[in-house]
Amino acid sequence: MKWIELAVEVHPEAVDAVAEVFHQHGTNGVAIEQAVTADPEGEHEPLPAGLPVIKAYLPALPASEHQERRIEEALWHLQAFQLAPVGPVVRREVDEEDWADAWKQHFHPLRVGRVIVKPTWRSWAAAADEVVVELDPGMAFGTGLHPTTRLVLRALQERAGPRKQVLDLGTGSGILAIAAAKLGATVTAVDISEVAVRVAAGNIEVNGLSGRIQVMQGSIEVVGGQGFDLVLANIIASVLIDLAPQLGAALAPHGEVLASGIIDDRVDAVRNAFSAADLTVTDETREGDWWLLAAGRAP
Ligand code: SAH
Repeated sequence: MKWIELAVEVHPEAVDAVAEVFHQHGTNGVAIEQAVTADPEGEHEPLPAGLPVIKAYLPALPASEHQERRIEEALWHLQAFQLAPVGPVVRREVDEEDWADAWKQHFHPLRVGRVIVKPTWRSWAAAADEVVVELDPGMAFGTGLHPTTRLVLRALQERAGPRKQVLDLGTGSGILAIAAAKLGATVTAVDISEVAVRVAAGNIEVNGLSGRIQVMQGSIEVVGGQGFDLVLANIIASVLIDLAPQLGAALAPHGEVLASGIIDDRVDAVRNAFSAADLTVTDETREGDWWLLAAGRAP
């Protein structure tokens, strides 16, 4: 099937208004694309490059001509009466097959220390000491990694290794569990979300780690009385506060919890909850507004 693609470059402030014009005139949804400067080494997060482009699609049928004219008029009015600039409409015919995979070009390998997080369709020639995590973005990736995910990935590589038992609480895409397993650990991954469990299980299989990572739906209670060397918990502060006693109880005597997902103004509350649960904070790292606390059981 053929479609008419209408693409227009807009100032960031005009994105909503332009998307609304397309919606009002019956296009089949809109795609908002933001080009990024990808770092070939994967060292830095991609940065926005240039203006966002909004794309919308109409079936390539005579009946669409009228709609197309109405859209052009509406955009012209926006341009004329608002301050935010809207570029000219670029029109092209596309085959459905051409754009099914087009979104993939926005995802690039990302490096955190010696861990490379790689979209499954990209290639990466890994150096001997590099650990490659294959990931299909699903709904858990975005064009970069969240700062809290990077914080845990960094702290994890100093600690995870062969013979370590790791619990990944709130596994999401499975990214931390997979990295820990590739570093040699045996991992239990849990998430309360059914979707997350499904996505994580898929990613674990793609990485050939189904034998080393057990995935379960639920929260910390599903792991029973096992003592872990490392508990990864990249969840929001309120959950960390509620679960602080159970996090402590899930640790082996020398074990450590790496707690992240903590925004600046909540870090004190998490410190207090940890201290009340006899967890001693041994290390703190931050990236921007986000914190990671490493804690162990008080001796
Ligand atoms: N570990 C991933 C995902 C973090 S997002 C990463 O670092 O990128 C946080 C995840 O925690 C979500 O998938 C959410 O479903 C899950 N979650 C939230 N509360 C939870 C709880 N009480 N127990 C287990 N998982 C929980």
